[in-house]
Amino acid sequence: MRFSGLRVLTEGLTGNKGWRPHWRDPAPKSDYDIIIIGGGGHGLSTAFYLAKEHGLTNIAVLEKGYIGGGNVGRNTTIVRANYNLPGNSEFYSHSLKLWEGLEQEVNYNAMMSQRGVLNLCHSDGQRDAFARRANSMINQGDDAVLLDREGVRKLVPYLDFDNIRFPIYGGLLHPRGGTARHDAVAWGYARGADSRGVDIIQNCEVTGIDVENGRVTGVQTSRGAIRARKVGIVVAGRSSQVAAMAGMRLPIESHILQAFVTEGLKPVIDHVVTFGMGHFYISQSDKGGLVFGGDLDFYASYAQRGNLPMAEHVMEAAMTLMPMIGKARVLRSWGGIMDMSPDGSPVIDRTHIDGLYLNCGWCYGGFKAVPGSGNCFAHLIAQDRPHPAAARYRLDRFRTGIGLMDEEGTGAQHNLH
Ligand SMILES: Cc1cc2nc3c(=O)[nH]c(=O)nc-3n(C[C@H](O)[C@H](O)[C@H](O)COP(=O)(O)OP(=O)(O)OC[C@H]3O[C@@H](n4cnc5c(N)ncnc54)[C@H](O)[C@@H]3O)c2cc1C
Repeated sequence: MRFSGLRVLTEGLTGNKGWRPHWRDPAPKSDYDIIIIGGGGHGLSTAFYLAKEHGLTNIAVLEKGYIGGGNVGRNTTIVRANYNLPGNSEFYSHSLKLWEGLEQEVNYNAMMSQRGVLNLCHSDGQRDAFARRANSMINQGDDAVLLDREGVRKLVPYLDFDNIRFPIYGGLLHPRGGTARHDAVAWGYARGADSRGVDIIQNCEVTGIDVENGRVTGVQTSRGAIRARKVGIVVAGRSSQVAAMAGMRLPIESHILQAFVTEGLKPVIDHVVTFGMGHFYISQSDKGGLVFGGDLDFYASYAQRGNLPMAEHVMEAAMTLMPMIGKARVLRSWGGIMDMSPDGSPVIDRTHIDGLYLNCGWCYGGFKAVPGSGNCFAHLIAQDRPHPAAARYRLDRFRTGIGLMDEEGTGAQHNLH
């Protein structure tokens, strides 16, 4: 089933009776070439690129809940390629290019909106750091514009420019950054993978990983044992628990990140705006809700719901930056489990077990990575060598100390990244 303007028109005129489920609901087979554990954005995009770019289709994606129920459907939808360090810079650049062709590639409206990401600065030091970051971005081939205070005012006049503690000095604008509708991204990849023959199996929890003579042979699940030649672990906040099934101890801590949305309002915020000093970022959804978030809850947890102190902190930051937001009513809040790595950068790598691959450590920035991560992980699984854009995402950097990518410069404390 292909989507097109003509199809929408025809269906509209004939009672919308021709639409079919976007993917099948197959029973698990007893044997696959490749099993992907985790049907989040990264797992689904991995399956999609394995099928599309490597011609491998005897694949199952095993998801313990439902597609879109994890972080892929819980994030604040920000997409960007504004990283500074070698390794991250080329990876996120690769990912943004894939975002730009995604809707055509999967024939699905992901509501990709390159409305620009604006990072605000509030001191001379921060402005200098932004100038350096902007140069890195431009050297990487991405776009960056340094704005002074009046340049920022023209774009976002509703901010409090003269706040005593955090006056706005200027900003770094990344015009190609923006937002995409998060669950549509999961659905688009699921549909794209399914249509190429991948089995997407929901309500199927992996409970064990089978290893014989140093080689993976399959998995145990809530729906029985399934054999496989290759297995990829892509379970975000559950990475440590699932890797432990194969006897691995990962350098990952799981922390909760919350998000909030207000009632629908008329268009008021045209960009994504981030306020680093207050740990706050905001955009407006196409439905009109102001979507915003802040910092982690600051203690490790698998609860998938947030705490009240952080809700209060985020609201305070919102009021500091844009006092007008006090008139909006918050509709909902929710939380997701983040796989925090010690240097804030991810892992896409083989493990010490033959045929077992690992994708984790996306911290709170893995939505923008969905296309790039799936593309690079599929390359690794299919060809047993890293994709050039993800070659630095090695697991052993946490053991050897070589190649650490501390983008935030906050040291080895997981919850600060
Ligand atoms: C509030 C919030 C705001 C965020 N904002 C942004 C943002 O603006 N921009 C950005 O780039 N990133 C953001 N992120 C981060 C981003 O959402 C995540 O890094 C990314 O979605 C994680 O990858 P995923 O989509 O594969 O994870 P998930 O969707 O969580 O997928 C992992 C899947 O694995 C499944 N699973 C776990 N254990 C098992 C098992 N044993 N067997 C089978 N399946 C299993 C889970 O059920 C889950 O569906 C945000 C996250 C949150 C929570």
